[in-house]
Amino acid sequence: MSSYIDPHIHMVSRTTDDYKRMALAGCVLVSEPAFWAGFDRSGPEGFRDYFRQLTGFEQNRAKAYGIEHRTWLCINAKEAENVSLSREVIKMIPEFLDQPSVLGIGEIGLNKNTKNEATVFLDHLELAAQTGELILVHTPHLADKYQGTRMILDMLRDDSRIAPERVCIDHVEEHTIRLALEAGHWVGMTLYPITKCTPARAADLVELYGPERIMVNSAGDWGHSDPLAVPEFIFEMRGRGHEEALIRKVVYENPLSFFSQCSRFQFTPRTEAQSVAQ
Ligand SMILES: [Zn+2]
Repeated sequence: MSSYIDPHIHMVSRTTDDYKRMALAGCVLVSEPAFWAGFDRSGPEGFRDYFRQLTGFEQNRAKAYGIEHRTWLCINAKEAENVSLSREVIKMIPEFLDQPSVLGIGEIGLNKNTKNEATVFLDHLELAAQTGELILVHTPHLADKYQGTRMILDMLRDDSRIAPERVCIDHVEEHTIRLALEAGHWVGMTLYPITKCTPARAADLVELYGPERIMVNSAGDWGHSDPLAVPEFIFEMRGRGHEEALIRKVVYENPLSFFSQCSRFQFTPRTEAQSVAQ
């Protein structure tokens, strides 16, 4: 069993049994972006509690299964339609930025590509630029994905303070991956059972584009999703006869390289001997 990282998964929506199954499959580190809870929160204090959960309780829940947990903070694109609420939440984020578990600002982005969403996206970029934080970007669902990705890439390009390699464009698919890679960003492919990318389509894209700046994730959440999607990708790649070194680069080394740009990020890989002893 080789170690892997799931760089995008919403563990607050998953059970401890999922943590255990992920640990058994080789997961050593997860990163959890802030997202929509499935309902709109009633006010900014709901976000403060959510950020406390992400930076506190969830850390310990993961640790119990030998998994390191890191997180990203923001108000998601869906609730960003409410600009005044969003601004109150963005004002609150710096309170949490000295927590060692925080990797940066995310997952910010667009949902329906509205003017309000773009306003709040730019406010998040301002915060990230001022505080020197990494950025994780959610791109819209399929109907709005191509246009939304172009809008996002334009907004990022227009801010010269933001280095492209400090941004990951997530949920890329066949029609958006090249745009994001050519802009100099990292990309995430989300392996969903039906929508977004399947493990097989993600393997196709690694074969087409190579492994540089590409990551895969499960984006497991409260909806139809699979917390073991990254091992499914490993299984698919092995089935196609790819070398272990190539697979390891995508599912382990790439996330570590991206996260390591955050000055707070520290991760000590367990040795094989430790893994066996545990
Ligand atoms: Zn997500």
